[in-house]
Amino acid sequence: MNTIITKFGGSSLADAKQFKKVKHIIDLNKSRKYVIPSAPGKRNSKDSKITDLLYLCHAHVDAGISLDDVFSHIQKRYTGIVKDLELDFDIEYHLNTVKKNIENGASKDYTASRGEYLNALILSNYLGYEFVDAKDVIIFNNSGTLDCKKTLDLLKQKLSLTNGAVIPGFYGADEKGDIVTFSRGGSDVTGALVAAGLNADLYENWTDVSGFLMTDPRIINNPKPISTITYTELRELSYMGASVLHEDAIFPVRELGIPINIKNTNKPEDKGTFIVEDSFNDDTQIITGIAGKKDFTVISISKALMNSELGFCRKLLSVLENNNVSFENMPSGIDTVCLVISDSQLKNKKERILNEIKSTCNPDSIVVHPNMALVATVGKGMAKQKGVAAKIFHALSEADVNIRMIDQGSSEINILIGIENDNFEKAIAAIYHAFN
Ligand code: ASP
Repeated sequence: MNTIITKFGGSSLADAKQFKKVKHIIDLNKSRKYVIPSAPGKRNSKDSKITDLLYLCHAHVDAGISLDDVFSHIQKRYTGIVKDLELDFDIEYHLNTVKKNIENGASKDYTASRGEYLNALILSNYLGYEFVDAKDVIIFNNSGTLDCKKTLDLLKQKLSLTNGAVIPGFYGADEKGDIVTFSRGGSDVTGALVAAGLNADLYENWTDVSGFLMTDPRIINNPKPISTITYTELRELSYMGASVLHEDAIFPVRELGIPINIKNTNKPEDKGTFIVEDSFNDDTQIITGIAGKKDFTVISISKALMNSELGFCRKLLSVLENNNVSFENMPSGIDTVCLVISDSQLKNKKERILNEIKSTCNPDSIVVHPNMALVATVGKGMAKQKGVAAKIFHALSEADVNIRMIDQGSSEINILIGIENDNFEKAIAAIYHAFN
């Protein structure tokens, strides 16, 4: 029998109605034996996520304020779910223990992790699956980084003994047994680790959208869904701001070639998006997706005979490193090089960096272009196809968008253009319509 790992996001488990949908999905396929839940998410746009409320509880204790008020909302959410599912399960006991621990100064990571912990207890009871605490199978070393080998070994060892288990997402424990969380949205990573540990056939990631869309629906009305995307294409798109899945969730499954299927809990019949190995080929798919980000500054540096000056780029990049600033992109010509830096990195360091470039690199000129945006057109199919770049640039020219920078990544699956912030939406729309 196949092994399918199913991870359900917060909106998929926000209340009893959603829990029922989850059980229905699990019951549809006997291979769905290992389930990773997030903490209850928002039931509507005005609602709160349990994880946010838990962080708030921790802040209250830190400030010496009673957490009674905030915790009562958490209590109500969980007791409501148990009552509406008509479970014979003493959630109050677990809630009281969690509350006491938080009041007694439990760590921020412990506090935040209890959203998943409590939800997994309820879900295991509801599905009739064993509860396996993530603190016993997801192991961090004492500096806070994941011990991948130990984790995969433990997952394999412990889970293969069960005939169905619920493992809370988002956290594990260090060697001392103290709880450590992943960054926000980290239940995706737990799901990927469980899939890798069990060498699963498929990692299903259930959320509230039917997979990835070709571009941002706030810019294009009803963009086409992406049925299949390779790990590398996804990496390019998510680095450009398109996100449904935690970035770190790709690495554990990618190594083993385990496909990920993004599915919609509210529309389980939709196929969703499959994320597959890079060797996947679909000759009909030229462009897979278009994504981008606003608010970059481009620092353009010119110097005669730059290309023959040994160590020029090393000196230039050492200025960024010394200021703890990373760059997004670095297109270069014979005597020019541009540094594309996100404004969130640059903050108030711009003047200092410019002065240090002047003194370290002695350029002929430095020109700063603020308010720039980057748009990435990604598609594995474009490497073998003539005329893709021509189509993109023609569409942008027709839309009256001035291209300020062009870069095609060495993998030839991404054409990156730099434009002004004001042209961002117009550029994405023009490229999308050129291919659809
Ligand atoms: N509950 C955590 C968060 O809100 C982790 C997750 O949902 O994946 O970030």
